[in-house]
Amino acid sequence: MHIKNVNLETVIGITSDLPKNDKMEVAFAGKSNVGKSSLINALMNRKSYARTSQQPGKTQTINFYNINSELYFVDLPGYGYAKVSLETKQKWGKMIDRYLMKSEMLRLIFLLVDIRHEPSENDKNMYDWAVRYGFNPIIIATKSDKISRSQRQKQMAVIRKKLNVIEGTPIIPFSALSKDGRDEIYEYIQASLEA
Ligand code: GDP
Repeated sequence: MHIKNVNLETVIGITSDLPKNDKMEVAFAGKSNVGKSSLINALMNRKSYARTSQQPGKTQTINFYNINSELYFVDLPGYGYAKVSLETKQKWGKMIDRYLMKSEMLRLIFLLVDIRHEPSENDKNMYDWAVRYGFNPIIIATKSDKISRSQRQKQMAVIRKKLNVIEGTPIIPFSALSKDGRDEIYEYIQASLEA
């Protein structure tokens, strides 16, 4: 897949209606600072189009990027930032829940976890939540350049076990520095487009 045109078309907050898109949506979820903006920028071949977390956890929007007038990337708000109020955390939960429940065009969810760490309870909840809504999220293990090749295998097993992923679920190591893993991610998006 070759991404040529990208356009941040819709930004919604807690009270806005979901856009009525007529193209497939691919959502990206993960905790704040996991590398979600870096991944989305890498996929879009842009340096800094998706927001990067200067103020982690501050942005409570869902951003819809129109990709090639063919599909949408949906950047879900990063969760799990410790220094925000319970009220703010609950708002995020509601936003994500509403989106998972109501979007008619959501076909694919990528859940991002940091390859160096065991997934958190929030990650586990996010995964289970998506599964409950009938999705089969693909896991992206971010910042893979930060550990050695042998450690990567070990960490992927840790991630698989902690999230208790559905059998056959891909876990893709990704590095925003080397772009390792990007082609594999494109392949899954392309496969969804053709499904
Ligand atoms: P977000 O909050 O999930 O959108 O995370 P960002 O994309 O803003 O990344 C958080 C921090 O991790 C930034 O300092 C990035 O430069 C860094 N980062 C993101 N992806 C990678 C990666 O693949 N490798 C390395 N070494 N650092 C990364």
